[in-house]
Amino acid sequence: MSTLRFYALKRLPYLQPKHIEIPKKLSELYCENVFSESTMREYLTKEAYQSILDAIKYGKKITREIADQVAVSMKEWAMSKGATHYTHWFQPLTGETAEKHDSFFNPIGEGRAIERFSGSLLIQQEPDASSFPNGGIRNTFEARGYTAWDPTSPAFIIDTTLCIPSIFVSYTGETLDYKTPLLRALQSVDEAATEVCQAYFDKNVSKVYSTLGWEQEYFLVDSSLFQTRPDLVLTGRTLQGHAPAKGQQLEDHYFGSIPTRVRNFMKELEIDCMKLGIPVTTRHNEVAPNQFELAPLFEEANLAVDHNSLLMDVMKKVSRRHGLNILFHEKPFDGVNGSGKHNNWSLSTDTGENLLSPGKNPKKNLQFLTFFINTIKAVHDYGDLLRSSIASAGNDHRLGANEAPPAIISIFIGSQLTAVLNELEKVTKGKLSPDEKTDLKLNIVGKIPELLLDNTDRNRTSPFAFTGNKFEFRAVGSQANCGEPMTVLNTIMAYQLQKFKKEVDELIDKGLKKDEAIFNILRDYITASRNILFEGDGYSEDWVKEAEKRGLENKKTTPEALKFELNKKYIEPFEKLNILTPKEIEARNEIKLEKYSKMISIEAKVLGDMARNHIVPVAVDYQTKLIENAKGLKDIFGENEMKSMCKEQLDLIKNISSHITEIKSGVDKLFKERDKAIAISDPAKQAETFCNKVKPLFDKIREHSDALEMLIDNEMWPLTKYRELLFTL
Ligand code: ADP
Ligand code: MG
Repeated sequence: MSTLRFYALKRLPYLQPKHIEIPKKLSELYCENVFSESTMREYLTKEAYQSILDAIKYGKKITREIADQVAVSMKEWAMSKGATHYTHWFQPLTGETAEKHDSFFNPIGEGRAIERFSGSLLIQQEPDASSFPNGGIRNTFEARGYTAWDPTSPAFIIDTTLCIPSIFVSYTGETLDYKTPLLRALQSVDEAATEVCQAYFDKNVSKVYSTLGWEQEYFLVDSSLFQTRPDLVLTGRTLQGHAPAKGQQLEDHYFGSIPTRVRNFMKELEIDCMKLGIPVTTRHNEVAPNQFELAPLFEEANLAVDHNSLLMDVMKKVSRRHGLNILFHEKPFDGVNGSGKHNNWSLSTDTGENLLSPGKNPKKNLQFLTFFINTIKAVHDYGDLLRSSIASAGNDHRLGANEAPPAIISIFIGSQLTAVLNELEKVTKGKLSPDEKTDLKLNIVGKIPELLLDNTDRNRTSPFAFTGNKFEFRAVGSQANCGEPMTVLNTIMAYQLQKFKKEVDELIDKGLKKDEAIFNILRDYITASRNILFEGDGYSEDWVKEAEKRGLENKKTTPEALKFELNKKYIEPFEKLNILTPKEIEARNEIKLEKYSKMISIEAKVLGDMARNHIVPVAVDYQTKLIENAKGLKDIFGENEMKSMCKEQLDLIKNISSHITEIKSGVDKLFKERDKAIAISDPAKQAETFCNKVKPLFDKIREHSDALEMLIDNEMWPLTKYRELLFTL
C-alpha cells in the first residue's frame, strides 16, 4: 500500500548531490545567451543598432527594413549559439510563460534547404488565441490573436531556441497578456514623472524609468517524495498532512547553512541566470524548513518582470535536474510560513537619479518629498487596486494569516519621515513668509538625512513599506506575475503625478512661487492621506479594529478583493491613461474569477479523491487488522478478558470508524457543493460560491484525515508525511 512512499524515502540517503562546476567567472557568463546591447553593436549595422536604442529609450517605431536587418543578424547570432528554432515568448493571462517554436529551416527546392528568418517573422507571430484565457473578448468567429515583438526587452536563447519577448493581443486589438498594459503604464509614469521633473526640478531629465527588484521565495521538495503526493502534483500545495512535531519553532532554518543538494541547484541556476542576463545576487534559506529565497539586482521594470517570469521557468527546469521539485505556491504547507515575492519599486531618471532617494541638498529633498508624498497619495486613493492586483486563491492563504502582511493596505514610512511629514503639514496655506521658507529649507527639508535610520529598522508587517530609497510592496504572492502589481502601481502613480502637476500649476498661475505651490499641495496631500499611514504591528488584532475605524478596506478573499476593479472610480485611471479599456478590465476580472473557481474546484476534487482512494482504504485495512487481532485474543482468552486486554485496539477501531464516517459525509457534501458551484454561470457568483460554500468544507475532511494519519500504523500510511517532505533535503 505505502510502497511508493517507502521506496522514495529509501533512496534519499544514497542520493549523491549533482556536482556543479562553475566554468569560469560568473561575470564572464553574463548575457552569454542574450542578444544584448553589446552583441547588437557587434552584429547590427550602425543604423539598425541606433534604431533599437531609440525604440528602447523613446519608444520609436522600427521600420520594416530595419526589422529585416535585425532579424538576419539575430538569426546569425542565434545560429552561432546552436539555435535551430525561434519563438515569440509571451506572458498570457494563464500566469505561465508561453512559447510556440518554429524552425529557421526553409526548403528552397531541389532537395535543398536554408535557415531563414525575416523581419515579418520577428515582428509578428500568430498563436491561436482561443486556447488562452480571454474573458470573452475573443469572438468565436475571430479566434486569432497575434504576438508582437517587444524590442525593449532583449531576445535570448534557451537550449536551441531563440526567444523573442513579445506582447499578446487579439486581432481586434484587446490585450491578452500581462506585458501590454505594463508597457503602457510604464510609458505613462515616464511621461508624468518626466514632466514633473522638468517643470520643477531638473530640465535635463528626459526619461523616467520605473525600477523593480523582486525577491522570489520558494520551497524545494525531493522529486520522488513529490510524486507520492497527488495534491502537490496537481495543486502545488498539500491538502492533507499532520503538522510534524518540529516545524519552524526553533527558528533554525532562516539564513542557516544551505543543504548541499540545494546549494548545487542554486549554483547551476545561477550559471543559467547569468547566461540569460538575469542579475541574481542573493540566495539564502528562508524561515520555513525547505524554503529559500533568491533576489537579483533591480532593473528597469519591464525587463525585471520578464526576468522574473523567465526565472520561474528556468527554476522549474533546473530543479528537476537535481531531483527536486520547486513549489511556487503561496502556501504549500499548513503550519509553516508561506511564500511571497516582495516587489521593491522606485523611479529613476535618465540622469541617474533615484527619485525616491533623499538627496544631499534641500532642492533634491524637495524632489524626493514630491515623489514620496505623491506615492503615498496614490496608494491612499487607489490602494484597493493594489489589493486586487495581488488577489489569488494561493495568496488568500497568506494575507491575513499573521505571517504575511494583512489584506489591509497601509504604508509604513518610519519615524524620521513621519516627523518630516508632521512638520510639513504645519506649513501655512498660500504664500509663505521669508522666515518660514528659511525654516522649511534648513530645518525640515534640509535635514532629511541621506541615509534613513528606518532603512535598517523596518517594519516587516507592513504590506507597503518605504525602505530608505524605494517602496517595498510585500503582499505580492510568490506565484504571481509581477506585471500586474507593477501595472497598477505605475498607473496610479502616473495618474497621481498628472493631478499633482495640474494642481501645482494652478497655484503658480495664481501667483505663488514654485516651491510655495509645491509645499501647499504636498501639505494637503499629507492631510488627505493620513489614514493610509501606519507604523504599528500589521499582524495585530488591534490594527484590524483600528483600520476598520479608519475606513480602510480589509478584503480577505479573492472574490471580494476583485470587486474593487469594477468600481467606476478605479476604472478611471486605466481608461484615462489608455492603459486598459473598461471592456478589457472586465475581461481580466472575469479571467481571474474563473481561475480562482477552477483552482478551488481542482483542490476540492483532489482532496476528495485522496480521502477516498488513499486514506479511507488504508484506514479500513488497518481497522481490519485490529479487528482480527481482537478476535484472535477473544478466541484464546474469552470475551471478558479480551475486552480488558484490547482497550487500545477497541478504542482505535471505534475512532477509525467515526473518522471514516466523517470523511465520507464530508466528501459527499464537498462534491455536492462543488457540482452546484460548477453549474453557476456568472463568474463572480461562481467564485463567491467556491469561496464561501466549497472551500470551507475542506477543513473537516482535512481534520479527520490528519487525525487518521496519527492513528494508523506509520508503515501503512501512503502519503509522504510533512516531516519527510520538509526535513529530508
Ligand atoms: P530584504 O527586503 O530581503 O531585506 P532588501 O531590502 O535588501 O532585502 O531588498 C533589496 C531588494 O531591493 C533587491 O532585490 C534590490 O534589487 C531591490 N532594490 C534596491 N534598490 C532598488 C531601487 N531603486 N528600485 C527597485 N528595487 C530596488
Ligand atoms: Mg524584502
